[in-house]
Amino acid sequence: MAVETLFSKIIQGEIPADIVFQDDLVTAFRDINPAAPTHILIVPNKIIPTAADVLPEDEQAMGRLFTVARKLAEQEGIDQSGYRLVVNCKEDGRQEVMHLHMHLYGGRDLGSPLLRNAK
Ligand code: AMP
Repeated sequence: MAVETLFSKIIQGEIPADIVFQDDLVTAFRDINPAAPTHILIVPNKIIPTAADVLPEDEQAMGRLFTVARKLAEQEGIDQSGYRLVVNCKEDGRQEVMHLHMHLYGGRDLGSPLLRNAK
């Protein structure tokens, strides 16, 4: 069985969070340290450590991340102005919490997604 994570404890209600959506496959809650007016994390309920660990059997949950992101973007009123969906993976991707999650950022001009001059 997978080792518990900070996010699995939030999903199970053991740690408080501002949960905005939950169903059988995913849970979404507001980031504790928001980088934009809307900053929501959408997390598969199953503990999948990183994007590099996704299996074919996870495809339904991975698709649900996107349909929930769309629904939440509409609820947040950022579907017309636009938003950014990000999944960080491992060290070079600056992933901090080893439970795969999609960031939904929006509510302002998010700028260029990459520091193009960074080597
Ligand atoms: P990442 O770098 O992609 O792993 O992002 C982890 C995110 O989790 C960061 O944006 C953190 O601010 C956020 N975070 C960490 N702890 C919590 C928490 N208890 N509740 C909500 N968000 C959190």
